[in-house]
Amino acid sequence: MMCPSCKLENPLSAMMCDCGYRFVPGSEISNGGLTAHAVPLQVDPGSLYLRSIAASVDSIRKMILFWIVASIAAGVVWGLIVVYQGAKQQEIMKTLQDREPERPRR
Ligand SMILES: [Zn+2]
Repeated sequence: MMCPSCKLENPLSAMMCDCGYRFVPGSEISNGGLTAHAVPLQVDPGSLYLRSIAASVDSIRKMILFWIVASIAAGVVWGLIVVYQGAKQQEIMKTLQDREPERPRR
């Protein structure tokens, strides 16, 4: 790779150029020209943190929305079950009432 400071070609394994330029990101900054490269490295973890907060807020919002939808759906299902069971019970009571007079005959 080429040193951006002195344009000298260095082996890929080289950690540091002869001029003092360090290739490893995040390491000591000895060159003023490196600050431009160093700034995004310093800002990135913060923006990543903010992004993760935004992502978690988004997931919480999705979870709340899911719970609202789920509770509404559960309420609707519960209501249907109650209505269905009520109708079924009435049906059972009706059939029992219909059958009861038949029993003494047999
Ligand atoms: Zn160099």
